[in-house]
Amino acid sequence: MKFGTKVIHAGIEPDPSTGAIMTPIYQTSTYAQKEPGKHKGYEYARTKNPTRSVLEKNLTALENGKDAICFASGLAAMDAVLKLLKPGDEIISSNDLYGGSYRLMRTVFEPYGIKPRFIEMNDPKQVKKAINRGKTKLIWIETPTNPMLNIIDIKAICKIAKANNVMTCVDNTFSSPYLQNPLDLGADMVLHSATKYLGGHSDVILGAVVTKSKKLGERLHYIQNAVGAVPGPQDCFLVLRGIKTLHIRVERACSNAKKIAKFLKIHPKVGKVYYPGFKDHPNHKIAKAQMRDFGGMVSFDLAVDDYNDAKKVMSNTHLFTLAESLGGVESLIGHPASMTHASIPKPERLKVGLTDSLIRLSVGIEDVDDLIEDLDKAFQNL
Ligand SMILES: *Cc1c(COP(=O)(O)O)cnc(C)c1O
Repeated sequence: MKFGTKVIHAGIEPDPSTGAIMTPIYQTSTYAQKEPGKHKGYEYARTKNPTRSVLEKNLTALENGKDAICFASGLAAMDAVLKLLKPGDEIISSNDLYGGSYRLMRTVFEPYGIKPRFIEMNDPKQVKKAINRGKTKLIWIETPTNPMLNIIDIKAICKIAKANNVMTCVDNTFSSPYLQNPLDLGADMVLHSATKYLGGHSDVILGAVVTKSKKLGERLHYIQNAVGAVPGPQDCFLVLRGIKTLHIRVERACSNAKKIAKFLKIHPKVGKVYYPGFKDHPNHKIAKAQMRDFGGMVSFDLAVDDYNDAKKVMSNTHLFTLAESLGGVESLIGHPASMTHASIPKPERLKVGLTDSLIRLSVGIEDVDDLIEDLDKAFQNL
């Protein structure tokens, strides 16, 4: 089955009890049993819920996996993955990643004796060097990275991990399964903040892990049932509904982003533009090899690197709304230095190009001419 058919049909059947075409929202905490232990596969909704099960089957198909587990948020999903580890174990992760993922590893898991190391992952050889044999148990990859939009070579790193008996998990939130399928490139697990492209309408918080093996899936279902960070059935319904248009939304976001990146590149008020679709992007070749298109995210800074000018741009756009998050149908604009990456010391962020005037766009699916006009007007007052 091709992707555009999977989003609508994989794992989804008309409801067996009524024939309802849309998966019902099974708003129930428990299920009737005929005799103790004799039931229709559902006992208690922390363990399993039919709406959630359908979403899990659909996500399994979209990522070409064996199992999927849905969680109350992307970070709850990551929490479960990290609980596969034990005190004394080590994690290698990229140094340019979602702030919440950094916080979870550093301030929650590290005090329990699970040690993260944050390194430059652009060069797979650095990853090989960083592996502490017998101690390193997980490599955490996020690509494209946030907000610099570097591309990490999933296949090369997963190969190194496998040779050293290390598990891999790829945070695929920025790409969505439409653009990139890490399990096909050798990863053991894929993580999604379904809050972003999968949901796609900025109306739900949900997370998921898709696994390459049944065994890893079983272990994560066990952890989830023991810990309890499950999503509600209505949230599962919203994500199932969002996914039905995933391919069309992401396609449009990609084509809009491409035009906007080109517009920015020649604009006199703009400095550097970070967009993996440009031939001169340092990882363009890897992006081309592992992604179907280059995504809906574009970052750029101003020709004169000024914090207040960046703020002016962001308060002068009308279609681009100043907000956290990404991946919705509407375009968003953000200022990493004062928002998502405010906790990173300035000299450190400058080293990776995260300047005071860096602006991140999550390009939506509006008409691109209006989006470009909106940005152009916002630059006029500088
Ligand atoms: C938003 C996000 C998360 C966290 O997901 P939540 O659903 O907000 O918990 C993780 N990784 C990336 C790349 C994200 O953008």
